[in-house]
Amino acid sequence: MNRDRMEEGIRIFLEGVGERFEGDDLDATPRRVARAWSDDLLSGYAGDPGGEMSWSEAPSDSGPVVVRDVSFSSICVHHLLPFAGHAHVAYVPRRRLAGLSKIGRVVEAHARRMQIQERLTAEIVATLDRTLEPHGALVVLEAEHTCMTLRGARKLGSRLVTLATSGTLREDPAARREILDLLGFGTERTIARTS
Ligand code: ZN
Repeated sequence: MNRDRMEEGIRIFLEGVGERFEGDDLDATPRRVARAWSDDLLSGYAGDPGGEMSWSEAPSDSGPVVVRDVSFSSICVHHLLPFAGHAHVAYVPRRRLAGLSKIGRVVEAHARRMQIQERLTAEIVATLDRTLEPHGALVVLEAEHTCMTLRGARKLGSRLVTLATSGTLREDPAARREILDLLGFGTERTIARTS
């Protein structure tokens, strides 16, 4: 990531806004903003999200594993505004059980990039498939988009819910329903399917 170019762009953006640069407060703003975006908001570009995963041997009779309420924030690629909410992640292990903190790290690594929520949901499932090789995986994201709540329609509190699935959790409706029930989603009609 080229932080100098980012800084330059933010300076031009502020000039376009018409804000003056003479004040002490604004002098360091382009540098501060560029650092915040490169080191924090978009830090996911620095690594391979799959590299965040580690696992142990799964017992042969392992049932589904569900991790609820993993908080995340991301940046909408359309407006460069944040969206934030919770990820619910489930998989049916074959031979690999994810390390306890690893699911959250994988969500984080994908979220800390410019995203659209549907793509983010699908990418997390793809990384679970690639690293854990489970029988199936399922991810639900619920998030509030500031591009919907602070601009445009300004519908405060409205949330976008997306679902992505793979393997048995895509092909077997009963298995999928069991997981969605566990997560408190009574019917699949309330969820926008993304894959
Ligand atoms: Zn947006």
